[in-house]
Amino acid sequence: MNLRTPCYIIDTERIESNLKILKGVMDRTGCRILLAQKAFSCYAFYPLIAKYLCGATASGLYEARLCHEEMPGRENHIFSPAFKPADFDEITTICDHIVFNSMRQLSLYGEKARQRGLSVGLRVNPEKSTQEGHAIYDPCAPGSRLGTTLQEFVDGLKRNPQLLQLLDGLHFHTLCEQDSDALEVTLDAFEARFGRWLPQMKWVNFGGGHHITRPGYDIPRLERCIGRMTARGLTVYLEPGEAVALNAGYLLTTVLEVQHKEQPVAIIDASAACHMPDVIEMPYRPPLEGSGEPGEKPFTYRLGGPTCLAGDIVGDYSFDTQLTEGQKLTFDDMAIYSMVKNNTFNGMPLPDIYIKEGTNYRLWKTFGYEDFKGRI
Ligand SMILES: *Cc1c(COP(=O)(O)O)cnc(C)c1O
Repeated sequence: MNLRTPCYIIDTERIESNLKILKGVMDRTGCRILLAQKAFSCYAFYPLIAKYLCGATASGLYEARLCHEEMPGRENHIFSPAFKPADFDEITTICDHIVFNSMRQLSLYGEKARQRGLSVGLRVNPEKSTQEGHAIYDPCAPGSRLGTTLQEFVDGLKRNPQLLQLLDGLHFHTLCEQDSDALEVTLDAFEARFGRWLPQMKWVNFGGGHHITRPGYDIPRLERCIGRMTARGLTVYLEPGEAVALNAGYLLTTVLEVQHKEQPVAIIDASAACHMPDVIEMPYRPPLEGSGEPGEKPFTYRLGGPTCLAGDIVGDYSFDTQLTEGQKLTFDDMAIYSMVKNNTFNGMPLPDIYIKEGTNYRLWKTFGYEDFKGRI
């Protein structure tokens, strides 16, 4: 495999096997699953995704447009913490579901969205944290700007009881890379707070963060959670991002230089800061093929990127043999939150994107100097 590095490789079979798992959940429960484009917007795969899922959800106008153009005819949902007045008309011509974050946003836009035929929802905050450590990924953390709390909901309805009539559904999104036990806890909190309004609703959206396609994920428990809502006559939506493209992509890099220091370092042609930003932001240590934990195999290296950022470090990895310049390294699980987040800091090139179909690697996108220059 002689591909120009760095490059992302997206594996069609892996995407499809994830989609089959998600489709199984839909078939057994009658729920509707959407792609959260935030995690994976590689629209080369939208026709395949549209074969299995019901559509997509967007964080704003551009993602909504992408769904409209590349998954035509499928459901197109949108949520934003605050919509821009200038975007609203276009949003209502291309989206079929819109979810507001606050009673104010609902009162500003809800009536108009309804008149234009959209199904209207409100994102609520069940105020039940189920994750530790990743505060930036916890929309239930104290002071969160995401979702309407019970108190805010009740106060808003007191001021304007008509707002309830605008709502077709309630939405919550509180999870991140979690299993269905956390969903169950969240659903209990959601029902305890907002259950009394469910008889007026048509649908409930469980958001994303469900790691459904991860080996060991408890799918029967997820399906019981869905069943609790369908038993109340509600359509259930799930909008996973990661689960659609989990373990379906690679980032191929080349070792440029080995530094034989006390702590040996290898500089690679991919950057954590530019090409795998969640490594630094989240943070996490991405899996690397053929490697072990530091010290596990005879030769341990710290892998760093070619930028001037001291902290542009992917992590510490061990190998059976010494690394050499020119050697290729393959990071796994690089389809999600990678292409959508990469950047050209330090004038770094954007990785090309290949699509793997069987044993064939098809070049889908290639980037160059103009992509760096053009965005500044
Ligand atoms: C991020 C997000 C998702 C997708 O989350 P994943 O962790 O990628 O599954 C879905 N819905 C909303 C509202 C989100 O913010």
